[in-house]
Amino acid sequence: MRATAVRLVQQALVAEGYPLGEVDGRLGPKTYGAATAALTKRSAELPADWNDWPNHRRCVAMLQLLCKQQEIAVGRIDGLWGPQTEYACDMLLYHREHGTLPPPFRDETPLDVNPNGWPRQSEAELIRHYGEIGKNQTMLSLPYPHRLSWDLRKTVQTFSCHEKVHDSALRVLTRVLAHYGPERIPALHLDRWGGCLNVRKMRGGTRWSMHSWGIAIDYDTEFNGYNWGRDRATLAGPEYDAWWRFWEEEGWVSLGRTRNFDWMHVQAAKL
Ligand SMILES: [Zn+2]
Repeated sequence: MRATAVRLVQQALVAEGYPLGEVDGRLGPKTYGAATAALTKRSAELPADWNDWPNHRRCVAMLQLLCKQQEIAVGRIDGLWGPQTEYACDMLLYHREHGTLPPPFRDETPLDVNPNGWPRQSEAELIRHYGEIGKNQTMLSLPYPHRLSWDLRKTVQTFSCHEKVHDSALRVLTRVLAHYGPERIPALHLDRWGGCLNVRKMRGGTRWSMHSWGIAIDYDTEFNGYNWGRDRATLAGPEYDAWWRFWEEEGWVSLGRTRNFDWMHVQAAKL
């Protein structure tokens, strides 16, 4: 159980009048005792055997009930910390911070056009279209300066990309500049660049990453973690609709928009 989740439980227990002392995000005898007392009052909402559960599991169950109370879909109240509980916990945190649940996912369908004839994401097609990994590179002079997302003091004016994606990426970024302007771009982190050419294997895989050809670009990596979905990734927000439209109109693919992970990443290859 994460400290933030424990804190949510502790805050609720304090609000119900249990003397916990400090809300410190750490599980201990006081929290366990209060959670058990709070669950006893709610036993009608719990499976019959909840009394046999260890303390830790009771605290997770308490968190699940708090989510349920807020009408967050948390699934079965089983005291087990799985993906659905983790997701519900994030929703509950959001609710505590904003006083409301996040807006429902927008139902926009990513554009699927291919004016530049990008190949499919198979190694044979990629090599047929782009050649060998790491080859046929050119420098892209950026329409607006970028900064390294992991070191914002470092400005980037050019980066290496595949010569076949150069003109398209330049068109996209020129439109981004015209649309958002030099002030909103840094405010929205659209200048936080996480890399393009990088000859390496896909995460946890044996196939070459799209970065190996210099046909994928990452943005704002810090706020768009690889495994994050729409609920956390900033690039999923409505203020980025134009950003994605400019890429998609050139045929680029966002893994975030199509698969809801790796929102930092956009690539000139179809899935
Ligand atoms: Zn990437």
